[in-house]
Parts: sequence; C-alpha cells; structure tokens
Amino acid sequence: MNKRNLHLGFLLTMAMVWLGVNTAQSKEGMWIPTLLEVVEDDMQAMGLKLSAEDIYSINHSSLKDAVVHFNGGCTAEMVSSRGLMLTNQQCGYDQIQQQSSVDNDLLTHGFWAMNLSEELANPGVTATFIDRIEDVTRRLSRVCVGLSGEEREKRMKEEMALIVKEATEGTGLDGRVVTFDFGNMHCLITTRVFKDVRLVGAPPSAVGKFGGDADNWVWPRHTGDFSVFRIYADLQNNPAEYSDDNVPYRPAHHFPVSLDGVQEGDFTMVFGFPGRTEQYLTSDAVEHVITRLNPMRIAMRDEALAVINSARATSDELRIAYASKQSSVANAWKKWKGQNRGLTELHALDVKRNLEARLTLTSGTTVIDDIAAVNATYFPYLEARSLFIEWVYYGPDLLNYAHGFQGLIEGVEGEEREALLTRLRGEEAGFWKNCDPLVDKDLMARLVTGYLKWMPEALVPQGLEEEVSKAGGGVEWAESLYDKSVFDNPETMAKLLANDNPKSWAKLEKDPMYQLVEKLRSHYFTEIAPQYGQLRQEIDGLSAAYTRSLRETFPEEVFPVDANSTLRLTYGKVEGSAPYDGMQYNALSTSRGILQKYIPGDPDFDMPARLVELLETRQHGQYADESGDLVVCFTGSNHTTGGNSGSPALNGMGHLVGINFDRSWESTMSDILFDPSRCRNIMVDIRYVLWVIDVYAGAGHLVDEMTLVNSSSKSGLE
Ligand code: ASP
Repeated sequence: MNKRNLHLGFLLTMAMVWLGVNTAQSKEGMWIPTLLEVVEDDMQAMGLKLSAEDIYSINHSSLKDAVVHFNGGCTAEMVSSRGLMLTNQQCGYDQIQQQSSVDNDLLTHGFWAMNLSEELANPGVTATFIDRIEDVTRRLSRVCVGLSGEEREKRMKEEMALIVKEATEGTGLDGRVVTFDFGNMHCLITTRVFKDVRLVGAPPSAVGKFGGDADNWVWPRHTGDFSVFRIYADLQNNPAEYSDDNVPYRPAHHFPVSLDGVQEGDFTMVFGFPGRTEQYLTSDAVEHVITRLNPMRIAMRDEALAVINSARATSDELRIAYASKQSSVANAWKKWKGQNRGLTELHALDVKRNLEARLTLTSGTTVIDDIAAVNATYFPYLEARSLFIEWVYYGPDLLNYAHGFQGLIEGVEGEEREALLTRLRGEEAGFWKNCDPLVDKDLMARLVTGYLKWMPEALVPQGLEEEVSKAGGGVEWAESLYDKSVFDNPETMAKLLANDNPKSWAKLEKDPMYQLVEKLRSHYFTEIAPQYGQLRQEIDGLSAAYTRSLRETFPEEVFPVDANSTLRLTYGKVEGSAPYDGMQYNALSTSRGILQKYIPGDPDFDMPARLVELLETRQHGQYADESGDLVVCFTGSNHTTGGNSGSPALNGMGHLVGINFDRSWESTMSDILFDPSRCRNIMVDIRYVLWVIDVYAGAGHLVDEMTLVNSSSKSGLE
C-alpha cells in the first residue's frame, strides 16, 4: 500500500470501527468533530435530530462555534448573543477565589453582577474558540518520505511551522499542528483566543461545591457546579486585551437552553475538550499504575491534604487562602483512589493481557514485548517526574515563588528586567493572599519526607538525603530552611521589590530556598526530563504501531483515539447504572436529595437559610419538572474525562440540557479502561442552574439574556 492509501486505510478503519458502534453496546469514544459523518447514522438512530454538518462546519455557523476551551483546561459554552458563557464552578474557582477576601467572601456567599459594569475582570484568563480542524497527516508524510530519526523530526517540525504560518498569517488566528493517536494522525487546529473574560456570577459554595470532597466523584449527586462568565471583544468583535472600551462578544452560535429537561433513555451528547486518556497502556504499565504510581501519588497528597485541611479548619483567612489548592490537590487524589479500585474490580490486568495475547497470536507482532522492554527503563523516570510534580508544583508554594526571582538574581537587564519586575510586583499581593509561610513550611517538611521515601534510589538529587538526615529529619530540615531563607518573609520581599537593588538580588543566590528549588529544577531538567522525554517518544512510536496493529487485526472491534485536549464529541444516553450487586442508581437526582443531605454546620453539607427555605417550600417556578420536582443532576453514558468539566450536555436538537462536571466513583478508571455498563458522566441539570440564577440569586436578567426553548421549538440552530 502506498502512503496515500495507507492513510485512507487508517481513516477507513477508524470509520469502520466507529460504524461498528452501531452494533456494539458501547458508546466508548471521543469523536473528532471533522470525522463525525461516520457516526452520524448511529447518533440519529439514538435520537439526534441534527446532521454532522450542523455540529461541525467550516462553511456556516454550527454547534462548535458555541463551545469554548476555558483557560486551557476546562470547557465552557456560549448561552447568549452577548458573550454570556457557562462553565463549572470548579473551572472558575481560581478566579472566584482571587476575587474573594474575608470581608468579601465570594466563595462562600456567591457573586452576581447585576449589570455589565459590575462584572469582574480576570487578567490572564483565556477563552478559545476553534476556527478549523484540518487533517494534515498526508502532507506531513509526503515531505518525510525516505527520512528517519532526527532528520525526519526536523523536517516534520519545519513543515508543521509552515502549515501553521500559511493558515494563520494575517488572519488574527492562532494555530498549531496537533498529534493524535501517538502520531498516526496530525491535524492543524486554528483558534481564536479571547483575553477579556469577566466573572458574572458564581453560586455560593453550598451550591457549587455542595457535598465537598465527600461527594466529589460520587453519584447520587446534588451539586450546582456552575459559574457564569462573559467574553468581551473589541468594537469589531475581535479578541482584545482587557479594556473598558471592549463590548460583549457576539458569538457565531449560542446554545438555546432547554426547559424540557431529560428522561432516562434520552439521547445526549457532550461537546468539549477532554484532556487525556490512556486507553492503550499495556498490561505492565497498568500494573505499574496500580502498584506504584497511584500509591505514591496518593501518599504524597495524603501528606499535603493533612496539612492543608487542618490549616483551613483554623481560620477563615486560611480557609479562603487554601481553598483552590485544596480542591486541585484533593480532586486527583480521590480519583486515583477510585481508579485503583475500579481497575482491580474490572480485572484490568487480565483484560489487557488477554487482548495483548490475542493480538500477538493473531498478528505475530512483537510490539507488546517491545513496549514492555522500554517501559522497564521508563518507569523510574515516570516516578521521578511524578514526584517532582507533586513536591514542586503541588507542594509548598515558596519553591516556585523563589524560582520566579531567577531573572533578577541572575541580573537580566533592559526590557526583560523591567517586564519581570512589573510582573513580580503585580503578582506579590495575590501570592501572599494564598500562601501562609507556616503552612508552607509544614508542607515542605511532609513532602520532602514523602519524596525521599518514594523516589527511585538512583534518581534522588545528590546530597538531598544526607542533608535531610543530618538535620534530624524533614521537620527539622524544613525548620532550618525557613529560618535561613528570606523568601518566606512578605515584608522583606516587598522591600526588595520596591528598592530593586541589583546587589541585594545577587545575594539571594545563596538563599537556601532559592538554592533548593534551583537544585531540584536543574536535577529534574537535566537528569530526568530528557530521559523521560526520549523514552516517552520511543513508547509513543511503539504505541502508534500497537493501535495500528489492533485496528488492522481486529477491524470489527472498537479502538477509539485517546483524548488529547482537542475538541471532541461524545454521545450516549441519559442512563443510571447498577455497578454492584443489589444496587441500582437512578439517572436523575432532585432537590429532595439536597434537603436529605443537609447538615447544619457541616462544612460540606450546610446551606444558607434562604436556600433551605426556597427548597423546603418547593418554590421551583418554571424550572420544575412535570411532577413539580426540581431536578438537580443526571448521569449519562457519555465517555468523558477531565477537561470535559464545564462541557455543554446537549439533547438531540442541540439544546443545552446540562453542564458536565464529573464522573461517578465507579467510573474513575475510565481513562484507562472504559466499561460501558458502569461508566457514567455526571451533569448538572440546566434547569437547576437557571433556578439558582433566577430564583435563588435574583439575577433573572441573565436568564432573560438566554434563548429559552421547549419541545415546541424546532431547531438548535436558531
Ligand atoms: N470533575 C472531573 C475532574 O475534575 C471531571 C471528570 O474527570 O470527569 O476532572
């Protein structure tokens, strides 16, 4: 087969695989929007009333024009012609926290802008729209014919740069070529990035985070996990930096909002930016996740959470300061626990081993053994990388803070210096608002101990172990570190920044905090990251062969492409589940459950009196279902992952019925092994969102801005 036919063959195989979805019970898969035609029939048979072209088109406005990549990590959706946008509360959490103080605690009480002038700016936050996705695999293969190794890499990069330049020059668009399926496919993705994104509304934590960590990753759920933002543009409707002159953005499409609600069995689709799945981990890698990687990451976060949770319980200042950090640390910590349990319960190792044995036997490939051979060298680097991330990025904040001064300490000059100084001065107040030196010191003590315990011996930075044991242990070592460093002293740092004396900066080179972070970083970037990167590349190359081989050998089976933070559509049904014997989950939860869970005074289950009263007196308004109940959340068999947080959940007409925000406890392993019988995504019912905005918060002007529809409305594209 020549290259062209091979690529067509690949697409065809994928198409056949996806058509195979018709017969398989599974809705596994996160479909690339340009290739939706292959599942169009299946979706329509399940209840979709639109065409693939209505969902994704470059010729006219389509559903994709209302889907936003929110700040690079979450999804959001447009719900008005004036730039109004919904996402999860967890996605806007940083911004809400940044705007909060003890006297003006938006996290606890919520926030509602009653007109445009009250909307709050969020410097640095981005809202990205997809302009176009184009498969450029063939073009890249063509220019690389006959090349290999570094030469091929180089040629590939040049061509990618050229592709991006051709597509974006003079257009105001951003662009990049993205690798799919370990390199079996490449797509050019052009985007429009908006930078003036203002906070419009956030429910109180008692709604947006109702149930807290206890209910996170759990069904039945009663959380109103949403927040409201607005995108602003310049007078020509183009992206612009924040300015008072900017006006609300007019999107090419916004989702009509359905008041009909959903029933068990209804078609749903979730359109968003799923972050990362690892469905082609081989059995040895899954075993490594279960026995080493997850236990070490969980243990590091156990330590961090012990410090953060007890600090937060001592004062309102610390509760607010560490709210966002607590959420991000606890979220993956709980997921990894569920993941290990799920992988074990599903006998993931047997499932993987069986598939690998079948493939090896049928096709004669050696790819599984080849991957295992590289993995044996790779695992220690993977562990070292994870531990670096846990300590330096999720641990004490002073490490990265100290590193931020590197340019000044090294004496950069000119414009670069001015820009750095301005940035550091600007960030100072925000940093100390969220960092308490004593809490930071406790984090340091606990995490250095965890790091040394779990780190593969040969990869520990030289001298660290001796240093800590000489000090008498992690606690004593951290004590002396913070004693000698000036980075934990806000007043000293403020003075240094105000005086900007090159000699004082130069002296900080000897500061133990600075020395520590630079040592850890240089060790990581010279001893770990390059080897990790190279081995990862080898594994990706082999994994590309693995997935190709799976599709060629078993053309009748489903082998979807892993998520990679690009726009995907996933579809399924509103469905409950029965994950364990004798247990049956309904698909819908109602406000009755909120009242059942209500525990006055409990940090996770308390509620403001007004909310309790409105729910107890069943003041559900036009948002009630036909029996008068207020539906709060629902589950579906849509295959989602992190990054899908905030994604629009749409009915067959393309109307917004909910906002995706989580998966059930029994689904947490779905990034590695998807099980259609028990994997369920969790969405907040859009009628509950509207109820909170309108009835609870009295911000009905926001609902008035939306296009509300019910079953008599015809299309999702008005
Ligand atoms: N709430 C989840 C998260 O935090 C969303 C998901 O993974 O399904 O990533």
